[in-house]
Formats: sequence, C-alpha cells, structure tokens
Amino acid sequence: MPAATGPVAGMYVCGITPYDATHLGHAATAVAFDLLHRAWLDEGLEVRFVSNVTDVDDPLLERAAALGVDWATLAAEQSALYADDMTALAVLPPQVYLGAVEAIPLVADAVTRLLDRGLAYRVPLEPGAGGAHPELGDVYADAHAPEVELVPGLDHDATVALFAERGGDPARPGKRDPLDPALWRRERPGEPAWDAGVLGSGRPGWHIECTVIAEQALGDAFDVQGGGRDLCFPHHAMSTAHAKALGGQGARVQLHAGMVALAGEKMSKSLGNLVLVSTLRTEGVDPMAVRLAILAHHYSQDWEWNDEVLATATERLTTWRAAVSGNGGPDATATLAEVRAALAEDLEAPRALAAVDSWASTSLTLGGDVEGAPGVVARAVDALLGIRL
Ligand code: ZN
Repeated sequence: MPAATGPVAGMYVCGITPYDATHLGHAATAVAFDLLHRAWLDEGLEVRFVSNVTDVDDPLLERAAALGVDWATLAAEQSALYADDMTALAVLPPQVYLGAVEAIPLVADAVTRLLDRGLAYRVPLEPGAGGAHPELGDVYADAHAPEVELVPGLDHDATVALFAERGGDPARPGKRDPLDPALWRRERPGEPAWDAGVLGSGRPGWHIECTVIAEQALGDAFDVQGGGRDLCFPHHAMSTAHAKALGGQGARVQLHAGMVALAGEKMSKSLGNLVLVSTLRTEGVDPMAVRLAILAHHYSQDWEWNDEVLATATERLTTWRAAVSGNGGPDATATLAEVRAALAEDLEAPRALAAVDSWASTSLTLGGDVEGAPGVVARAVDALLGIRL
C-alpha cells in the first residue's frame, strides 16, 4: 500500500456528482480508500481524509431538467442518500468535505491566478451567454503545459476521443487545443451562476474544483488522490496539472479502484445498468454483506456484481458471526498478523478475508479454548476491514 510521507497522511478521494444514488462502483471506490484509511490508522498515523461533492455540473443540471426538479434540491437529496449509504457501509467519514458550490471563491481565486500567469485563457461566448458581461468569455486551461500527462499508449487523436467520452468538450470553437479543459464556465440562460469578480458570473470546472479543495485542505503536496479508474484521465491528470500550474505538486500517488460490471458491462449512469446500494438496503440486504462482496476483490481489479457474489458474501458474514459468538476460540494472534500483512501488501483484501475464513472455520469445527480470541477477531475485522460482526 502507498506509504505516507509524514506523521499526517493526506488523502483526497474524488466524490460523486449527486444526480443518482450510490451504485456499486461508487461503493467499491469508497471502500477501497476506506481500507487504506484504516490501514494507515492501524500504523499509528494521523489521517487527513478530504473529499468533495460536485454539487453543480452539467450532468446534474441535465438530470434535474429531465426530471423537472430543482437542481439544488436534487443535489441535496442525492448527497444525503450517498452519506447514508456510506454510513451503512461503515466508510469512515472525511474530515473535510466540501461541495463545488462552497468552493467557488477558491476556484475563482485559482482561475484568476492561472490567467495572471498566462496558463489559462478566455474563449468567446456564443450570443446570449454571459449575462451582464458577455464580453468576458469562458476560461480554459492551456493543456500544452508540460505537466499534462496524456494517456500512455494513446496518441493525440485517441486521447481526444477519450476526453470527449469522459465529459470533455474537444470540439468547442476557440480553444487552443481540443484537450484544454474548462476552468470557469460563464453564465448561460437558465443555468445557475455565481459572481466571481474579474471572471464574470458563472460556475466552476470539474478538475479545478478538486485541485483547489485538495490544496486548501491538504496543502501543496499530499500522499494520495483516489477515485475510480475512469477518473485517471482526464480528471486526475488535469487536476494534477492545475495543481502544478498553481505552483504546488498535487498528489504524490494516484490510486484507482477497478470498475464494477453488471452482465458484462461497466456499471455507469450513462448506460443505466446500476445496482444501487440504497435499493439493496431497502430490499433488506445487510450492508456488511455488500462490503464483504466488495472486499472479496482486490481494489484495483475489475469485477462483476451478480447474485452469486452477494450470496457468497452473505454466507461468509453469517459464518464469521457464528464463529465470534462464543467466549473462547482458537488463538487469533497469527490471524491478526496475517490480516495486517495482507493489507500492507497493496491492500490485499481477499487474502485478509481468507485468513479470517480460516480462523472461523477452525473455530466452528474444532473450537478453541483461548478466552477472548473471538473478541480479538471481531475487533480486528471491524477496525481493519470495516466489517461489523
Ligand atoms: Zn476529483
């Protein structure tokens, strides 16, 4: 697992855009970084965990319009549901949790600095945009900055295609390069906008949002930036490039969780093939079984959610609960050491689960006379794996 560079480990995990509740892909990402959080705490480190919620962005506004509801109400409802899901999944909460709207003064300051340094530029607006100051254009970052790392193995054209697929706007007229990302989007008719001094009224770009929240909460450099693998490009590449353009370093390590599929396709809002944590909870599925199903896969692995995965996890949970129900049991010293060793080895959760399986199996078949051993296992599983037995 990534080593922290100081006594305070800093981790920034990219949050959701709250227009649909938590699906298993989000849950798997959250659990992956929660595992790292817990491993760092177990090492005796103080952890500063920061996250965001992108509570104003194009997909949220589009969904609110499609549903005929107020975008801010939709964002607040879905953010609250996400928080409930995280609590149910025993994900330790962030110390700093900021929304894009709250971060607007930080974004405005950073975008102004980038303009002053010549690392950003204005793009003229189409007629009707820009409110009282249509002469002030949208602001884009200059992606020609050498800090921008393009995707290894992809040429410029393929990178542009990926950029478009993942929310970028390569075809926007007036940009210097198709890959330049938006920093500040000016006011459009019917869209929310906030005044931002010399930038004019508008709203923040996505990548700069995470850059400035991380910078404020964690400083110029921090240990880990995390998210699902689909955030690797452009989001993490661009947010790190922005951090460097602002004079900082951003994350020392970027860590990405694998994608969760359903019936052979990646679970995503755009495909609509979502399994929601809240739906599973409503159906009476124990959230600890959901968490165990996630932990049965290495965080970086792609995997598929299906009934069998959930049934296996539910059975494991039942077995573990039965095994820790007595006062005495097999000695747990080696089990605890193996769980810790597995997590230290790049958060090898499946190996940690196997160690607990082995102890539980011995406990249920052979028993044991070490008083308090079941309690040791229950507390270790709770503290290190986030599984409440
Ligand atoms: Zn982010």
